[in-house]
Amino acid sequence: MTRSDDDTWDVTESVGATALGVAWSRAQENNSECPLFLDPFAQLFVDAAVERGWRQPPADVVERIKAIGGYAASRTKWFDEFLIAAGANGIDQVVILAAGLDARAWRLPWVDGTVVYEIDQPRVLAFKADTLRRHGVTPMAQYRPVPIDLREDWPRALLDAGFDPSEPTAWTAEGLLPYLPAAGQDLLFERIHDLSARGSRIAVESFGAGFFDPEYLARLRESRAQAGGSDDTFDVQDLWYVEERTEVAAWLAGRGWDVTALPAADLMGRYGRCAAGEVDDATPRTVFVEGQRTC
Ligand code: SAM
Repeated sequence: MTRSDDDTWDVTESVGATALGVAWSRAQENNSECPLFLDPFAQLFVDAAVERGWRQPPADVVERIKAIGGYAASRTKWFDEFLIAAGANGIDQVVILAAGLDARAWRLPWVDGTVVYEIDQPRVLAFKADTLRRHGVTPMAQYRPVPIDLREDWPRALLDAGFDPSEPTAWTAEGLLPYLPAAGQDLLFERIHDLSARGSRIAVESFGAGFFDPEYLARLRESRAQAGGSDDTFDVQDLWYVEERTEVAAWLAGRGWDVTALPAADLMGRYGRCAAGEVDDATPRTVFVEGQRTC
């Protein structure tokens, strides 16, 4: 599967299907014996997609998703906690970039008056809204979808939707960056910075140099093939832009953000999903970056 500068997708295809994969994983966690978080809506999305003809992941992909299940659950929990802490610290404007089937606007305990903007491709957000509406689910915050591609002029669309750049904002970028070209990632952060009043916060799943290491990526491809990788599914790597990237934590620090960076294994250890030293290829080489704009 090749990408192009202006490609678009529905939720069951190309990059859109990755949102379904993550929702599937959240449904597994929600239904597990001792879940790190509850997301009762994830299963609704999976069921609605199956109704539309989406085939649930084949066995080899299920095994891969399960192998990183502890990672996915820890990631969800970390972003949940980031947003709850931002609210407790007085931030009531939130922008979820590449929201996919993230149901936080419907499931987190928002402070009254919080406005949640979600940006993603139009057909992905339409599927989400339609599914939740059909089940009579209403948001727990003021919800404002901004259906636009993040390679287009999304700041304009966000402002048109009512976003106030003079107010501090909590931003999240979860499961997004590999799907943007390196230059697109740079532009994304320039724009976020320009729209961020002092006191704004940001949480990013960042993909540094180690993530795009060709040998590491080749090993992941090979382990998928050995697991009997099905011909009728694509490898998620085919959707990524494998390019050298600006290091997010350093970039933010250089622009006056107070930054902390937590490697994935440490994050998983925090939630009891990975013992110390238990780092292998099933632990993505990502870093969880949190920042606050101080000037
Ligand atoms: N953040 C969500 C989560 O963690 O559940 C979704 C993650 S999913 C792996 C990737 C999401 O990024 C998809 O919903 C996809 O549509 C969105 N995405 C990727 N590139 C995008 C772009 N250029 N513009 C808008 N959305 C994009």
